[in-house]
Amino acid sequence: MLTREDWTKATGAPSAVKGLAWYTDGSKTREGTRDRGYGQSVGQRLSFSLGRYATVFQAEIYAILACAHEVQSQNRLDRYVSICSDSLVALKALKAVRAVIAVLTGHNTLRRHLYLLELHDSPLCSKCGVGEESLAHILCECESLASFRHVYLGSFFLEAEDIKSLGLGAIWNYCRAVGLP
Ligand SMILES: [Zn+2]
Repeated sequence: MLTREDWTKATGAPSAVKGLAWYTDGSKTREGTRDRGYGQSVGQRLSFSLGRYATVFQAEIYAILACAHEVQSQNRLDRYVSICSDSLVALKALKAVRAVIAVLTGHNTLRRHLYLLELHDSPLCSKCGVGEESLAHILCECESLASFRHVYLGSFFLEAEDIKSLGLGAIWNYCRAVGLP
């Protein structure tokens, strides 16, 4: 992973950075405080106060989202936008959120989805072989996953309504435990 020094001391942007580049900094500022986040791009710098009690992690996540919002609000025509963060924890958190959203919205590798795309010859669950392997089946019904469900989601079986009250982190941990991407 590139460090802040790589960005600031190397000549030009790293090769992985494409198009319009933004750099975030949610950690300590030059003044030594931790209550600010920054986003920086060519000729533009965002600065925002997050109060005294924000963690570095929160500041970094906020900085990334603020850069994304700024890019969107400018209606630019750049084909690529790179938002560079040196916070591994923040990047992992965003990756987890993206993975959970992919699972929740059905853009996933579950067999029912693959079957509908004609990429698999059966929609049946690879764990139990009984029901269709859909998100609802995996999250709520599959008997083969009941013990994982109990550990990670608090119940052996769930109703669809129960999903709303689950945290993203719990769903993510459950998906990882049962081998979903
Ligand atoms: Zn099943």
